[in-house]
Amino acid sequence: ISAQQLGAYLLDRARARGARLLAARVDGVDIKNGAVEAVRLRGDGPERVLTGCFVNAAGPMLRQVGQMLGLELPVFSERHRKLAFEDRLGAIPRDAPMLILADPLDLPWSDEERELLAEDPQTRPLLETLPAGAHCRPEGHGASPWVLALWAYDAAPVPEVFPLPPDEQFPEVVMRGLAQLIPALEPYVARPPRPVVDGGYYTKTRENRPLIGPTAVRGAYLFGALSGYGVMAACGGAELLAAHIAGGPLPEYAAAFDLARYEDPAYRELLESWSDTGQL
Ligand SMILES: Cc1cc2nc3c(=O)[nH]c(=O)nc-3n(C[C@H](O)[C@H](O)[C@H](O)COP(=O)(O)OP(=O)(O)OC[C@H]3O[C@@H](n4cnc5c(N)ncnc54)[C@H](O)[C@@H]3O)c2cc1C
Repeated sequence: ISAQQLGAYLLDRARARGARLLAARVDGVDIKNGAVEAVRLRGDGPERVLTGCFVNAAGPMLRQVGQMLGLELPVFSERHRKLAFEDRLGAIPRDAPMLILADPLDLPWSDEERELLAEDPQTRPLLETLPAGAHCRPEGHGASPWVLALWAYDAAPVPEVFPLPPDEQFPEVVMRGLAQLIPALEPYVARPPRPVVDGGYYTKTRENRPLIGPTAVRGAYLFGALSGYGVMAACGGAELLAAHIAGGPLPEYAAAFDLARYEDPAYRELLESWSDTGQL
């Protein structure tokens, strides 16, 4: 599915039910007696909206917007980039499924390349064993030659900076990694196709479960830490959030996504025994 089209569709439906979209930045949240009183905005339109209900769904800025509520949210962000290229050699069959390299990888650099990479602290980590998870799939229908390829080989907590800082090596490293899985991609290592790179942040909790539900501030809710599955989880997560806000019956999994789960010593202990989340 297209995330943009899904968003546009949901916005249309919300508008049809009376929702208004203000293009503005949330600058602060006024709290009175432990409850949300108003939201302060910078942009077109009103500077202050009186409300008893505020949802922090700020994506990569979840933590910063949480601080406006006096909350320290247990989230961090990783950079995740995406490479699109035209597969002019037809290396990947158009009916191929998502192809995932589940093994960690030592990239086969030449001695000369090794020397060069070792010189720069930024590129030196590329000489080490890189994590599993390089993956790709055909993109588009019909005669589309496009392939999407992703590999978060440098995933680590980073500050949320916009625009995303460039990584010159990304297309080559991804191609070299995937060529280990799909040898037909090998010719692209020497003669790379024109790369189109974009990406963003996976903002997540340590156990990679989202934060959906209330906070210690009455009327303030969270819908975030959606990591790398936020498009897939958007509709289900929104139903859960709506049940919290409207006071409807909660599904049995609600507690698993509630911020309050971290107050439970048994849950915190359980977390210590969880290691790999299996995230790509
Ligand atoms: C490379 C890559 C590939 C991905 N692939 C997939 C995939 O295949 N499937 C999938 O399900 N998910 C995928 N994801 C994850 C998905 O994109 C995210 O989980 C999802 O976008 C998170 O949604 P969100 O609404 O929480 O945050 P966002 O979509 O980032 O929205 C947050 C919004 O809050 C706004 N905002 C922030 N601060 C303020 C403020 N102070 N005032 C006003 N507005 C503010 C921002 O401008 C933004 O519009 C991918 C992510 C990346 C980076």
